[in-house]
Amino acid sequence: MKNLAILGSTGSIGKQTLDIVRSFPDKFRVVGLAGGKNTDLLAEQISEFQPRLAYSSLKLTLPGKTRFSSMEEIASHPEVDLVAIATTGKTGLSPTLAAVRAGKSIALANKEILVMAGEIIITEAKQHRAKILPIDSEHSAIWQCLRGERVGVARLILTTSGGPFYHYSPSQLVRVTVEESLQHPTWKMGKKVTVDSATLMNKGLETIEAHWLFAISFEKIEIIIHPQSIIHSLVEFVDGSLKAQLSFPDMRLPIQYALSYPKRLSNSTLPRIDLAKIKSLTFETIDYARFPCLELALDAGKKGGTYPTVLCAADEIATELFLTRHIRFSDIPTIIAETIGLHHGIANPTLDEILAADAWARETTLKLAKRESLC
Ligand code: MG
Repeated sequence: MKNLAILGSTGSIGKQTLDIVRSFPDKFRVVGLAGGKNTDLLAEQISEFQPRLAYSSLKLTLPGKTRFSSMEEIASHPEVDLVAIATTGKTGLSPTLAAVRAGKSIALANKEILVMAGEIIITEAKQHRAKILPIDSEHSAIWQCLRGERVGVARLILTTSGGPFYHYSPSQLVRVTVEESLQHPTWKMGKKVTVDSATLMNKGLETIEAHWLFAISFEKIEIIIHPQSIIHSLVEFVDGSLKAQLSFPDMRLPIQYALSYPKRLSNSTLPRIDLAKIKSLTFETIDYARFPCLELALDAGKKGGTYPTVLCAADEIATELFLTRHIRFSDIPTIIAETIGLHHGIANPTLDEILAADAWARETTLKLAKRESLC
């Protein structure tokens, strides 16, 4: 029996994590839950799973058995074996550090944490023998391909569906609506990551995430368009052999793998692939010029220091401004690029310097959007 804490339990990944827990009541027990604004759902989850600890960012009356705790306290509680970080943006950073310092296993879905503070998280995870288990489908795929193969890796190949606008012209991209951007061709996800997938910022953030998770240089990470989202990523070895992980695009599989690792569990609710029905898997070279967010992210990742933090913060604000209809889809990369252009980077930043860069970038992105009368 593994004792779990799930932070961000009311979001898309959090709900699917609880679906996996429901499938294996004899393997997983929920001891901590943390949710954001959706207090009705959080209250339902608390009454169903009866965790000992719960956190809500809004006021919530807890039943007698459940004690109110901070996310950091939940993430580091002695009873917790594995912490699933299903928050978005920077919310999960401090609780993830708390889990790392307590030497927990951490099933990580919140990619911004490694993008913002990869060096600190990975260094401290080694010190405290904490395990970072990726939930992002691409990283789960690479992790599965690398099992038993730590040497002889030539490169990692991340796949992307290309998002809904891959074949759009620049003038079509200007007119993209919020509704269109929220229609991802293959995956059902939260709003922020769906827009990030449409701008391809998501793939840039994933490249930085892969750099930290697998201790590999940016030069050895490639991206390829794979519209069917069946191959979730690949590893090429020095002898030219390629290993890939394939499955139906359903986040419950990488979630379950992280929860049950190192075992695999049989789960009849997960869909199976019928290769004969799929017939063909196709690939295309990525056109970087068409999606400036991807280049911005790769550039920030290579520069390192506080640049990826600024990228993340500017992206979070710009995406929110687009979702609230204050800016156009094509303004997202423009505003992020301007914010990064104004930043004076700090190499090997401390956590405080990362948080200061984050606050500066949020403020600057908002100011830039206002100055250009976009808001
Ligand atoms: Mg992904």
